[in-house]
Amino acid sequence: MSTRLFEIVFDQILNKGPMTVANYIETCLIDPQLGYYNSKDPLGITGDFITAPEISQMFGELLGAWMGNTWCSMGRPAPIQIIELGPGRGTLMADAVRGIAPLKGFLSAIRINFLEVSPVLRRKQARAISELNFGLKPLWWNNLSDIPSGPAIIIANEFLDALPTHQFIMTDLGWRERLIGIKKGQLAFVISNNPPRPLNIPKVMPRAQLNDIYEVCPAAIKIIAMLASRIKKEGGAALLIDYARPQGCYGDTLQAVRKNKKVGIFENPGEDDLTTMVDFLTCVRTAEKYGILTYGPVSQGSFLNNLGISLRAATLLKNATPQQAINITASKNRLVSNKKMGQLFQVLAILNSYLPTPAGFEKNLINNIDLT
Ligand code: SAH
Repeated sequence: MSTRLFEIVFDQILNKGPMTVANYIETCLIDPQLGYYNSKDPLGITGDFITAPEISQMFGELLGAWMGNTWCSMGRPAPIQIIELGPGRGTLMADAVRGIAPLKGFLSAIRINFLEVSPVLRRKQARAISELNFGLKPLWWNNLSDIPSGPAIIIANEFLDALPTHQFIMTDLGWRERLIGIKKGQLAFVISNNPPRPLNIPKVMPRAQLNDIYEVCPAAIKIIAMLASRIKKEGGAALLIDYARPQGCYGDTLQAVRKNKKVGIFENPGEDDLTTMVDFLTCVRTAEKYGILTYGPVSQGSFLNNLGISLRAATLLKNATPQQAINITASKNRLVSNKKMGQLFQVLAILNSYLPTPAGFEKNLINNIDLT
């Protein structure tokens, strides 16, 4: 289909030559006029994809418990900046705050900050928080560096996977960047003629074979570096949950999704969601340069089980209608089962080193991995 954004991308390639995969993702997702996130609400059953907070209130409620627990270990600072990156419809934050509201002093201490590009979603986030009737007044930001300083608890679910990622392919001549050009009048992958800057591939990766693809997301690295440096300086913790790239493997994880089905990445630029899997190993290596602690990544399934999702489901089941009971059980299963989201999604915590092991993480599993 020839979307309006397709024309823009096509003309840009005609005029300036092939573009990087990262540039393509960024243009398709957040072009100020025609980008995917700027023009519609893609979430939910009727949208293109459904995220954990949209599956069940239990997800946000358990993250609320995590925030409350972390705030207590920090010594209950007031104010505390609560920051969510890419909050979608605001469902996670609303469920979290509603769930943990009874914790003494929490509601009066929190200042909610949303990092969000989409005006459509900003409106939904405002509604979700105002419907709580707690008198909370969130602030919205385009840049992490603008968010008020001070101790912070930061959360992000399915945010890093939306950031622009570069792809490199192993050729007979070594690594080359994979670009998007035009072949027979269509968008298509082409290969850069020039060698890239050194890729700094972790030693845990096997020797690359011909046509292996290595993905690098500088935007995610920058976000992690900013979070880590903020936490080191100002105190606090971050919890990042995302669609994780299997460790120690090469591969092309770029995918387009429309109405919960995979489609070709060139089919409808600007009208389908584009994601790549998050390289948590690189996130850990980046964060640790700042002298702070990292926990995980652990699977979403074990994290939610450790936080007590079964107890929460049992409480909800007590007052549920038969249909609600079916939904509660099915959604819990969808969130934790290894065959569904439980294993595919991973959870990483970044903490100031004065804090104890965060809830949901039994031990620092990353110690088992060679990070050099
Ligand atoms: N966390 C939500 C939504 C995930 S979708 C949930 O779990 O339901 C990704 C979110 O990140 C959307 O809110 C989108 O508008 C936002 N987003 C994507 N790219 C962004 C960017 N570069 N800067 C800020 N927000 C971005």
